[in-house]
Amino acid sequence: MGPAIVAEHLVKRFGEVLALDGVSFRVEEGEIYGLIGPNGAGKTTALRIVGTVIRPTSGSVRVFGVDVVREASRVREMISYLPEEAGAYPNLSGLEYLRFMASFYRGEGRDVEAMVEEGVRISGLGERLRDRVKGYSKGMKRRLLVARTLMVRPRLAIMDEPTAGLDVVHALHIRRTIRGYAEEEGTTILLSSHNMLEVEFLCDRVALINRGRIVAEGTPEELKEEYGAENLEEVFVEATRVV
Ligand code: ATP
Repeated sequence: MGPAIVAEHLVKRFGEVLALDGVSFRVEEGEIYGLIGPNGAGKTTALRIVGTVIRPTSGSVRVFGVDVVREASRVREMISYLPEEAGAYPNLSGLEYLRFMASFYRGEGRDVEAMVEEGVRISGLGERLRDRVKGYSKGMKRRLLVARTLMVRPRLAIMDEPTAGLDVVHALHIRRTIRGYAEEEGTTILLSSHNMLEVEFLCDRVALINRGRIVAEGTPEELKEEYGAENLEEVFVEATRVV
């Protein structure tokens, strides 16, 4: 299997702000790769570039060998992107929303209803899927959006803080679901998170970003050993202190 993502020397400027300052990383197919780091470190910026939402100032990213700038539409056919703050159409019911989103993927070998059924299962929203999205709590909306992201079985799912705002039980369900897709479908997952327990549970490898640079990278075990830390929170504090 070839690499799912190869990011090389990514730089992104927003006016005076240098959001990414030469970020390179590589994610193998089927891996769950996590970006962690303090607020404003550049995680979302990196995910948005891989997700073809914004272009880098310089540097490149290839997703399954396809360049995200030159061939963005080909990349979009292979990925599913869950933004940090996303809304669903408020006047649709959850079920209508899932069906609407699945319809974009029609003709790619999978039935819309099969995708919707999968979305229903992932969301765990049951009968509430018949209600309009505008009446959903923050966590319910998040579950609907996570379901939308995974039900289409993308080759690469890019998930910006997938369990943000979820209670413990639902966060656990979503984490198990994400792991299941990686293990059973071979889905590659690129995610960001502030929850170090989540990262330890989910990620095969982690990159710690600070001020637009990767300051540490490895499996959670390797990082803990390197920093002589008992958990990833300690690694996080140490790695961001030295820079
Ligand atoms: P958080 O953990 O708070 O979500 P993050 O690591 O995802 O943070 P980014 O959202 O990537 O951080 O932001 C990195 C830097 O780039 C910040 O200084 C931010 O203010 C800046 N930035 C991001 N997007 C824009 C934009 N559209 N315009 C201007 N500055 C931006």
